[in-house]
Amino acid sequence: MRVDILTCLPQLLTSPCSHSILKRAIDRGLLALHIHDLRDYTTDKHHKVDDYAYGGEAGMVLSVEPIARCIHKLKAQTSYQELIYMAPDGEQLTQQLANQLSLQENLLILCGHYKGVDERIRQHFITREISIGDYVLSGGELPAAVLLDAVVRLLPGVLSDETSALTDSFQDNLVAPPVYTRPADFQGMRVPPILLSGNAQAIQEWRHQEAMKRTAKRRPALYEKIHTNDGRTS
Ligand code: SAH
Repeated sequence: MRVDILTCLPQLLTSPCSHSILKRAIDRGLLALHIHDLRDYTTDKHHKVDDYAYGGEAGMVLSVEPIARCIHKLKAQTSYQELIYMAPDGEQLTQQLANQLSLQENLLILCGHYKGVDERIRQHFITREISIGDYVLSGGELPAAVLLDAVVRLLPGVLSDETSALTDSFQDNLVAPPVYTRPADFQGMRVPPILLSGNAQAIQEWRHQEAMKRTAKRRPALYEKIHTNDGRTS
């Protein structure tokens, strides 16, 4: 998968992309990540990417020209399935959306900053707007890193255990069951005996029951959906 990220603060993306799963995906050649500094697409000597908001609203707005210039250049070389803008009022990022995007070949992600980007970019260049939740961050870089991590860990070959992404929360509309590791007894707090039984089928059934219980308790709306949509219940 190829991902191009457009930002006025590339430094904010350096660390999240240089460790753990994202680094591994890059090292294994499964992710070609290109981070573009919008300042490189300015024409003035101060490399200014923002300007005052029309109408007197407080705060700066990312200007249309550098973004348009960068997108035009990239689109001339690569055909993108989605041109994404990270936006607090976009569609909410879910596991289903991450699954869907992980099947794409080329994605472009635009990070806003300050008051956001000039509306004309959203209207004429962007194909999809994604939010990581109903709260406002200072820039789209952390949301872009969240989206990238959620998508890239699903690419075949990125996680060492091929099946582990499939047993995570929200696949199958269930949250994950509890997990334990050694020691089996920590100061009298014991691991559920079934997990030590060696009975693979019973363990699988226990995990499923725990996932159901947890979903009912922590995500009642999701639990409801399993029943009404005839989703996976056993
Ligand atoms: N004035 C805007 C907020 C701008 S925040 C508003 O009220 O909606 C600056 C940038 O941070 C945005 O352009 C967006 O790219 C990013 N951002 C902030 N919160 C976000 C969120 N919850 N999800 C995705 N992107 C977000």
